[in-house]
Amino acid sequence: MTWPDGKACALALTFDFDAEELWIGNDPANVSNPGVLAMGHYGARVGVPKILELLADEALPATFFVPGAVAERYPGHVHAILEAGHEVAHHGYTHVPADPEVPGLVEEQIDRGLEALDRVAGITPAGYRAPDGVSSHLGLRTLTDRGFLYDSSLRDHFAPYRITLDDGRPGPVEIPEQPTLDDWAYGSSSPTQYRVLQSKSHVLSIWQDEFAELRSWGGSITIVMHPQITGRPIRMATLREFVAYTRSFDDVWYATCSEIARHFVSQEFSAGPEIR
Ligand SMILES: [Zn+2]
Repeated sequence: MTWPDGKACALALTFDFDAEELWIGNDPANVSNPGVLAMGHYGARVGVPKILELLADEALPATFFVPGAVAERYPGHVHAILEAGHEVAHHGYTHVPADPEVPGLVEEQIDRGLEALDRVAGITPAGYRAPDGVSSHLGLRTLTDRGFLYDSSLRDHFAPYRITLDDGRPGPVEIPEQPTLDDWAYGSSSPTQYRVLQSKSHVLSIWQDEFAELRSWGGSITIVMHPQITGRPIRMATLREFVAYTRSFDDVWYATCSEIARHFVSQEFSAGPEIR
């Protein structure tokens, strides 16, 4: 596929605004553990405002994937994200992996998330990202039945493509993530998951090399960040320098996931090799 205005690639800056729900989803007992929840609280308290500042300074668009329960807890954040012109997309209701073997759970999480985003912000999200990346055939069918334009949960290509459901129907457009461009892999440490952090230069080296190669492939480059990780000072500096690096090329299309999905749809039936 080609990109608008002769651009070489698309770059989607995405933020999974999980806040406390990530930790409660990991272990329901964390709901009464302020020391653990503080990681998520930081993402709301400091991470999102700092990220919105950086995006405004750089005049860049972004997509925020927000669980319904987080939207209910932080409605002001959701409004601020939207008022800044960014996209808000669906990220479950709570941050539990939606196990398709549990009757009704997949549909309930999607429907409650839709209701919450509508109630809080009056929006119907175009896209979805599965909490913890736990996708399922049932989930993809449910997204299709609910009219979602795109999903961004899978890590199986470098460019958008149309999902084929297990029942043979066309599903949403997939905006694949790159696992190499996920801040969780380099920058997470918590009271319960202690890890030695990676330096800025180390992360930048990986992100820049991955970006440059994907650009030469003509890909859509989806970087996955979390306000509770990227909102920390060293990671904000990493993001700022990464953006500056991408700006050293003059052929990058900075877009939201829904813009990329709509662009894919506009080209879907034109001549060219089909992406599988
Ligand atoms: Zn998440």
